[in-house]
Amino acid sequence: MKTRTLLAALLVSVAAAACTTTPAVAPPVVRDPHAAPLGPIPMNAAMTEVFDGKAMRVILCGTSSPLPDPGRAKACTIVVAGEKAYVIDTGPESWEQLQRMQFPGIRIAGIFITHFHSDHIGDLGEFRMQTMVQGRSQTLPVYGARGVDNLVMGFNLAYEEDARLRFAHHGSSLINLEASPLVAREFGKAFVGNLSEEEVILRDGDLTVTAFEVDHDPIRPAVGYRFDWKGRSVVISGDTALSANFTENAKGADVLVTESLAGNLIALGQQQLKAAGNERGAQIMDDIPDYHISPLEAAQTASEAGVKLLVYTHHIPSAQVNLPPYFAGVAAIRPVDQWVIGWDGLRVDLPANSSTVTQGELLPKPN
Ligand SMILES: [Zn+2]
Ligand SMILES: [Zn+2]
Repeated sequence: MKTRTLLAALLVSVAAAACTTTPAVAPPVVRDPHAAPLGPIPMNAAMTEVFDGKAMRVILCGTSSPLPDPGRAKACTIVVAGEKAYVIDTGPESWEQLQRMQFPGIRIAGIFITHFHSDHIGDLGEFRMQTMVQGRSQTLPVYGARGVDNLVMGFNLAYEEDARLRFAHHGSSLINLEASPLVAREFGKAFVGNLSEEEVILRDGDLTVTAFEVDHDPIRPAVGYRFDWKGRSVVISGDTALSANFTENAKGADVLVTESLAGNLIALGQQQLKAAGNERGAQIMDDIPDYHISPLEAAQTASEAGVKLLVYTHHIPSAQVNLPPYFAGVAAIRPVDQWVIGWDGLRVDLPANSSTVTQGELLPKPN
């Protein structure tokens, strides 16, 4: 990381340092609890462009899954529409990736949870705390199907004391304590398990967000999301096996962000674990494939739905994503410029009212 970039990242994160030790000789800082709030952290050039309102943007902030991968956070995708950002899943380590990008957390207007597996929710408390430290002035909505109330209640409870302590230390110039909580926004009363429902869950200016049921059985509810804005559209799969409702809701999307499981590599891993006497690990590997979609199935879905760009994420196993067998056969289904293996920091731009789809990066592509 270049020195200037590192310094800027430090400036963004320093206020949130968890355990800043005070020199023994210095008195503790006491801030005026009634001081006026300070302004937001200035945006860097890349983020100023991301929020220029000219395009809908897709940013990957986590592209791995429960298996460890030091170069990737777990499930996290961001859609930027106008001046606001919407986060789809907050997997472990995903906030760190946003900090590396110097992402302005106060632009986050909502968090959308696809389902309650830990690789999709682990950093929700960090999003709560870090956006608060960056100056969030309103409570943060968390959208989800049945179960989101408990999720939000739990994270609010776990982070309540942290917020109080930071307020006591930094004061009201930095922390708006009343605005710190997450607020649950439950949808999907009609999602009763037939895996065929959809529901418009948010209309905000030119943006419409639709949730739809996906097949991640036995995990119910599990949903994907579709974002429509100024003639452009992005669909996020969540975790799903191949399903008709997924294909239906992906129809005509400019971008489809989908998970991908390489069954051939998982089978190889299972054999190796079994040979090593790790029966528990082998059984887990055996259970994984039946509720995820393969790269080939996702490619077929994208082509059937008429999707312009297919973005693979939630790689299983992500550490092997660059091995040739992982995406073997995809090139025979889709031209090379119509699919991309996602990484943390991939950025896709969809200019308003056009058909253009371009790719860039906010973090360098890993080797
Ligand atoms: Zn899952
Ligand atoms: Zn997952």
